[in-house]
Amino acid sequence: MVLDIRTWEQTFQNLIQEVKPWAKWTLSLDGNLQLDCVALGWKQYQQRAFGWFQCSLCRRHWASAQVHILCHLHWERWTDQGQVVMRLFGQRCQKCSWSQYEMPEFSTESTMMILNKLVQHILKRYYGEGAMQFAKMSVIPEVSLEGSHDAANCEACALGICARGLHGFISEPSVCPPSYLDTESSLPQIGDMYIPNQSMNQSAQAKKAKGTVYKGSVPRRDQKPLIVLGCTLLLIFSLIVTYFKR
Ligand SMILES: [Zn+2]
Ligand SMILES: [Zn+2]
Repeated sequence: MVLDIRTWEQTFQNLIQEVKPWAKWTLSLDGNLQLDCVALGWKQYQQRAFGWFQCSLCRRHWASAQVHILCHLHWERWTDQGQVVMRLFGQRCQKCSWSQYEMPEFSTESTMMILNKLVQHILKRYYGEGAMQFAKMSVIPEVSLEGSHDAANCEACALGICARGLHGFISEPSVCPPSYLDTESSLPQIGDMYIPNQSMNQSAQAKKAKGTVYKGSVPRRDQKPLIVLGCTLLLIFSLIVTYFKR
C-alpha cells in the first residue's frame, strides 16, 4: 500500500477518538523535519517500521525492517487539540547508488502498527495513560528479515539518526547541533533484505506526499533578554519601595 496521508490521518484520528472522543489530532508529512530541532512546546518521537522500497531506475524491490520515522508532536491542553508532523526516511538502491532516496511503502498491517504505536505514545505522553490498548493489537511479522541494515544507502544513517537509537522524546527542545550532518554510521544492524524483481505496485504517490508545510512551529528564542528585563524591573521596584518607606 502506498502512503496516502489522508487515509493515514483518518485512521490515526479514529484510533485516538476510540479512547479520547473529544480530542482533535491532525497528522501531516514534512520531508524537512530534523532530529532534535524541535520548536518550543513540541516534542519528538521516533520509531522504526517495516516497509518496502522500489528503485525508480532499475525497478528493483527491497524490504526493510528499519524504516526510520521521525515525528514532532504538539498538544494544546485546553482545547485538547494536537498535531503530529511526520517524516519518513528513504533508502537508496544498492545497485544504483547514484539514484535518489526512494520513499517507503507500507502494507496495511505495517501502517496500523505505526499508527498504533504513535497513538500509544500520545496517550502515555499527553494523557498519562499506560499501554492499555497494546493487548488488543496482534502483531504479525510480515517477512522475517535476516542480514544487516544497509547503512550506506539509508537516509537516516547518512544523517546520523539511525545509529543514535530511538529515544521517545527529548525534554529540552534545542537548535540543531553542528555535528548533525557530520555523523555517519556504519554499524551493522539486522533488518534489510533484497527482494529481486518481485512484482509490486509503484511508489509514485509516496513521493507526492513529501514536502507538506510544517505549520505551527515557533522558533526558540534566547531567554537572556527576558532575565535582564526581569532583574531591571525588580531593581526599580525595590528602589520605589525604599523611597516610599522614607
Ligand atoms: Zn536500482
Ligand atoms: Zn539506517
